[in-house]
Amino acid sequence: MPLWTCEQCGAQFHESAGPPAACVVCEDERQYVNWKGQRWVTREELTNSHRLVWRDDLGISGIAVEPGFAIGQRALLVPEADGCVMWDCVPLATPEAIDHVRSLGGLKAIAISHPHYYGAVVDWSEAFGGVPVYLHGDDRAFVTRPHRTIVPWTGDINRISDDVVLMRTGGHFAGGTILHWRAGAQGKGALLTGDVAMVAMDRRALSFMYSYPNYIPLNATAVRRIESVVAPLAFDRIYGAWWGRNIEADAKAAFEMSVRRYIAAISG
Ligand SMILES: [Zn+2]
Ligand SMILES: [Zn+2]
Repeated sequence: MPLWTCEQCGAQFHESAGPPAACVVCEDERQYVNWKGQRWVTREELTNSHRLVWRDDLGISGIAVEPGFAIGQRALLVPEADGCVMWDCVPLATPEAIDHVRSLGGLKAIAISHPHYYGAVVDWSEAFGGVPVYLHGDDRAFVTRPHRTIVPWTGDINRISDDVVLMRTGGHFAGGTILHWRAGAQGKGALLTGDVAMVAMDRRALSFMYSYPNYIPLNATAVRRIESVVAPLAFDRIYGAWWGRNIEADAKAAFEMSVRRYIAAISG
């Protein structure tokens, strides 16, 4: 039986003879259903129409679908001595891309910021012997392909290693998570934020939204909570969710400025 992928958000669903009735991610008010109606592709169709590409993005390897598909994020590979942590995911896993990841030491875990970037997490996990897929349990209702490798972790901190730590910020999603990479940016530290904190187009600031496509801002309480999680962390760089959408240096000051600016903008 085929596996089905939602064309609008790129989430892969479980096997079924026909496509699922609806996409739980797109029906949520933070995303949207395709204007022409809910559309699906099978994994085989997607493999035939698209490919995966990879390249360096500010010192680490990223992977994305070409031509652009669904939300268009790229996954990042955080290197560690015992294998990479894949941060966020893409809707496809191809033999060539899997070989590339193997050449970097393989995967030891996959960590996802929030349900918009679930993609084909199960395919990627299985390609590396069933490595754990860390998704925050507060967002478990959005898991579109339940699988034994998915770890719905709870609480606010999930330490993958001394250098790679997941921290729940909430905000965009109740289980919204960022990754603090202590060894990143030549030891100054890096944050990988998905769009839980969105790198703006000027690449000097961030914004914080409940829904980006539907323009629903976060309230001050939620942004203050994100700020409180980030405040104790040492970092100089922030990696966003798309190619090149990063703050290369002085990202801590940029983050603090962005919070002040955002709160001022939504205050009466
Ligand atoms: Zn969808
Ligand atoms: Zn999102």
